[in-house]
Amino acid sequence: MSETRADPWEVLAVRHGRLLTTRADFFLNYGEYGQPDAPLELGYWFWIVRNGTHTIVVDTGFSAGGARSRGREVTLEPATALAALGIDAGTDVQVVITHAHYDHAGNLDLFPTQPVYLHAAETAFWLGPDAQHRQFRGVVDEADLSALERVVASGRAVRIDEQREIAAGVSLVPLPGHTPGQLAVVVETPRGRIVLASDACHLDEELEEDMPFKHNTDLIGLYRGLARLRDWQQSGDLVIPGHEPTVLQRFPGLGGALAGHAVRLA
Ligand SMILES: [Zn+2]
Repeated sequence: MSETRADPWEVLAVRHGRLLTTRADFFLNYGEYGQPDAPLELGYWFWIVRNGTHTIVVDTGFSAGGARSRGREVTLEPATALAALGIDAGTDVQVVITHAHYDHAGNLDLFPTQPVYLHAAETAFWLGPDAQHRQFRGVVDEADLSALERVVASGRAVRIDEQREIAAGVSLVPLPGHTPGQLAVVVETPRGRIVLASDACHLDEELEEDMPFKHNTDLIGLYRGLARLRDWQQSGDLVIPGHEPTVLQRFPGLGGALAGHAVRLA
């Protein structure tokens, strides 16, 4: 019997923020579609993958400063959510940073000793000269990048450059395009395979209508990533986009301090 069946993974999605924006501000070159503008809601999520022996924190949300400076509504502090889940710096945790944008890589200092998995291309880009341009700089926080640099300097960064299983039934899959090292996390669960797309796809509509978000480093790669996500969907896998607001209503909610903030995907 595989470890996955003997010790099944639970997958939780935690919404820590939200934003009411517009379709024209969200989708890349929205005028191409000939559609009227309209309001658009985004959820800001991170995810927990755990079983009896492992806890994997997938992204660490935005920092209070990163959220405030951009007018994002913080609905629950990531640190509060992690504490409510019994996850703290003393927990035996693996941290995955799907990409280095401010809304995914804040709060890294909450995990001062844990291994941090990320794509080698992500650290190379953000800590290198190509990321200095204004169009890239606006979606990261300098404090987060400094924290990332400290992770690398401490030897805790586990940098991958191809698909890798980090625990039995949990794989990191590079889907570059939104950023050079964008990762998806694929989890084998009792309900089937769950693909945490993170920002390889922000919204269900992005996937269904082939309408990319405005920030990308490689649009061709982004489109290829969307195609890969559709392949998974067509195989019956559950694909969870990184900013889909309806996830909060579509899955069973957690109780206690997390009521109204977190759901169980598996
Ligand atoms: Zn994001």
